[in-house]
Amino acid sequence: MFLELVSLYFRVFGRGENLLILQVMNWGYILTGAGLLLAFLGLVFKLVIDRKEATIQKLNTDFTSLQRQLSEAKENSPDARAGRLLKKIGILDKDIELLSQDHAKNEQALSEKVEELEKTNQELEKLKVEIERANELLEEASYYKEQFACPWCSGEVTEIFGDDEEYRSYNCGYSYGPNGNYPCPYDPEYPKIEDYALEIRKLGSDKFFCVPKAKNKNAHKLSLQPQGGSTEDEAKQKIIDNYNRLLPKRLRGLQI
Ligand SMILES: [Zn+2]
Repeated sequence: MFLELVSLYFRVFGRGENLLILQVMNWGYILTGAGLLLAFLGLVFKLVIDRKEATIQKLNTDFTSLQRQLSEAKENSPDARAGRLLKKIGILDKDIELLSQDHAKNEQALSEKVEELEKTNQELEKLKVEIERANELLEEASYYKEQFACPWCSGEVTEIFGDDEEYRSYNCGYSYGPNGNYPCPYDPEYPKIEDYALEIRKLGSDKFFCVPKAKNKNAHKLSLQPQGGSTEDEAKQKIIDNYNRLLPKRLRGLQI
C-alpha cells in the first residue's frame, strides 16, 4: 500500500513542468472575458464582411466595454485561483512529507492527502488549458484591434466605407481614400513641404496654376490641392498656406 502511495505521490509530483508554465504565464490575461471576447470577435468578423455599414462607433463601444470587463476580471482571476491552488499544493506537499515519516501509522491520512493532491493537480491542469484558450482569444482580439487601429498612434477607426476603393478615417485625423489622404499627426514621417515640387503652369499673362507634385513616397500621405493665382508666388503661397493650415498642432513650429 505504501509503495502504491509513493508511486502515486511521485506521479502527482510530475506536475513540475505544469507549475512552471503556470508561473511564467501572464496572469493579467483573464478567463472571465472569454465569452465576451468571442462575441466581440464575431462582431469584428461581421464588420469585415459588411463594411458598408461602418458602424464603428458600436465596435469602439464594445471594445471599451470589453476592456472594462477584462480589467474587472483581472482583479479576480485567474491569479487568485492559481494562487490558491499553488498554495494548497504547497501545504499538501508538506503534509505528505510529514505523514510519510511514519507511513504505517498515517496510511489512511496519506492516502487522503495524495488523493487531494491529485485532484488539485487536475484542477491546475484544467486552469492551464482555460488560460491557454483565453490567451489565444486575446491574441486574436489584439490582431483584430490592430486591423482597426491607427498604425502610428493606435487611434480608433471612426469610419470605413467603399468597396473598390476604401475610405478609412481614425480619431487622430489619419485618413485615406479616393478623395485624398491625411497622415497621422504622430507619423514620424509626416511629409514636409519640401517633399513637394511646386510646379507652375502659366494659363495667361496674370493667371498661374501651381500643382504640388510628390517628390517621394512619403509625400503621398498628404493630399495637397493645386491652387491658382495672379502671380507664380501667389499660387505657390496658397499651397504653402494650405499645408500649414493642415499641419497638426504638435508639429507646428517644427516645420517651416
Ligand atoms: Zn494616428
